[in-house]
Amino acid sequence: MTVNLLDLKAQNGALDAELKDAFERVLRSGYFILGPEVEKFERDLAAFADARHALGVSSGTDALLLALMALGIGPGDEVLCPSFTFFATAGCVSRVGATPVMVDSLPSTFNLDVRDAERRVTPRTRAIIPVHLFGQAADMDAVLALAAKHDLRVIEDAAQALGAVYRGRPVGTLGDFGVASFFPTKNLGALGDAGALVTQDAALFERARILRVHGMEPKYHHQFIGGNFRLDALQAALLSVKLPHAAAYTAARCRNAELYTARLAALPNVRVASAADDAVSPAESEAARLVLPAVLPGNDAIWNQYTLRVCGAGGRDALRTHLAARGIGSEIYYPVPLHEQKCFAALGYQPEELPWAHRLAGEVLSLPIYPELPEVQLEEVCAAIAEFLR
Ligand SMILES: *Cc1c(COP(=O)(O)O)cnc(C)c1O
Repeated sequence: MTVNLLDLKAQNGALDAELKDAFERVLRSGYFILGPEVEKFERDLAAFADARHALGVSSGTDALLLALMALGIGPGDEVLCPSFTFFATAGCVSRVGATPVMVDSLPSTFNLDVRDAERRVTPRTRAIIPVHLFGQAADMDAVLALAAKHDLRVIEDAAQALGAVYRGRPVGTLGDFGVASFFPTKNLGALGDAGALVTQDAALFERARILRVHGMEPKYHHQFIGGNFRLDALQAALLSVKLPHAAAYTAARCRNAELYTARLAALPNVRVASAADDAVSPAESEAARLVLPAVLPGNDAIWNQYTLRVCGAGGRDALRTHLAARGIGSEIYYPVPLHEQKCFAALGYQPEELPWAHRLAGEVLSLPIYPELPEVQLEEVCAAIAEFLR
């Protein structure tokens, strides 16, 4: 039995007629850049995200860049961000001329370790970018306390987590800006590149809105040096078809995650991660062959990924090969932490300087969890893992 990591055709195929209607509507309108389709999507997205303002942009990466630009972060500034994340988080910091300061992660949630962030604060630190990795919020009370203490701006990278809840509060609305991505594999996926910024702050929203179009307001009068960060009318129209289903997509992912944990936790030498894991170094970490992902108390996760830790040298790659031999897809998010990337070599980090980020990159494996994954296929993945552990 083949089990694909993803199946975008299943989700979009179910909405075939509505997506084609949306395409025809845009085609006939002749209105392709911003305009009413984008404005409607922004209103609906703000309601979905429980945010005062939403701004449709060209990608999640551009949303990060635009947030940094709107906050005036640039040369001479330092921005704290996790090393164990997708590249864009730190890449955008460098692109505005600031310095990304890499922070270690916690093994319980894969999210940034705020105590490590605090050790790295200097008089030049201007902002922190917590990433809500794999669909679960970072420890935002600690992030916001650190930000208040050192007068830092907060950009939440919610590219994998829009719709997640932290202690009753929707992610993306806790910092100055929240970043969303509609890359096709995110919980709400466009049919191409798309993203958004959300914010509670009307002045920041206005600044980002102007920067989205070359800092231009009114036409051909440029207040700031912005860029072209616009969302296409076509992607907005297609996303408007999918947005009403976003909660159902996430509910299906949550069901899949629960089933994985119920099946896998019953196997020998498998345990579920917990906050206790965060108190020890990688070397002292409690032994197990597999550590399953946990949702910490106070969090509603949206399970963009179901990511295991496979402990022991070579274990992760052996499991991945074992699954591939049975036609089961899996992926490594992410194999190289950002502090070890060639492009950041000049920052001068040693691999072991961020011990958990280094360790996690060698242990993680993400399993198929997309909403339409047939239950028999999920059971097949669990059976293959049981066989691996025998
Ligand atoms: C996907 C992603 C981004 C970038 O989003 P794009 O829409 O692909 O540009 C940024 N940060 C994280 C954590 C992501 O997962």
